[in-house]
Amino acid sequence: MPLWSERLGLFGRADLVELRETGPFPVEYKVGALSGGHAAVQLCAQALCLEEMFATSVPGGALYSHATRRRQPVAFDAALRDRTMAAIEGVRRQIERQELPPAADDARCPSCSLINVCLPSVVAQPARLRGYQGALFWPRALEPEDDGDV
Ligand code: SF4
Repeated sequence: MPLWSERLGLFGRADLVELRETGPFPVEYKVGALSGGHAAVQLCAQALCLEEMFATSVPGGALYSHATRRRQPVAFDAALRDRTMAAIEGVRRQIERQELPPAADDARCPSCSLINVCLPSVVAQPARLRGYQGALFWPRALEPEDDGDV
């Protein structure tokens, strides 16, 4: 389900939103075990979007782990909302400064859906990255009859 918040400048897609009598209830599916609290921040951002979209409060949601095949309830309390707003502000600052955060390259990466575009084992090693960048953009030697047209 598409999600957005014009107030916060967010858009994205929820894995599942249950439309309960008490209001929208977002559920985020994760491949691995749940750890670290990052998924709760992601889920809370979904709740902030749903609150704006449905003009209602969204007090809770759930994380589902394929690894454990269990749902873990998440309450969108003030502390989690503060962490989520801080994360949104941090991302906005990075976008404004055109910065990329360093790649984590840790135990989360093998089960991350972005691993094939992020390439954490490459970008987390500056020397290796510089080597690849140099190889990618090394100018081709011109042959004598080559007039430079591509
Ligand atoms: S693959 Fe990239 S985006 Fe995914 S957890 Fe690792 S560093 Fe983060």
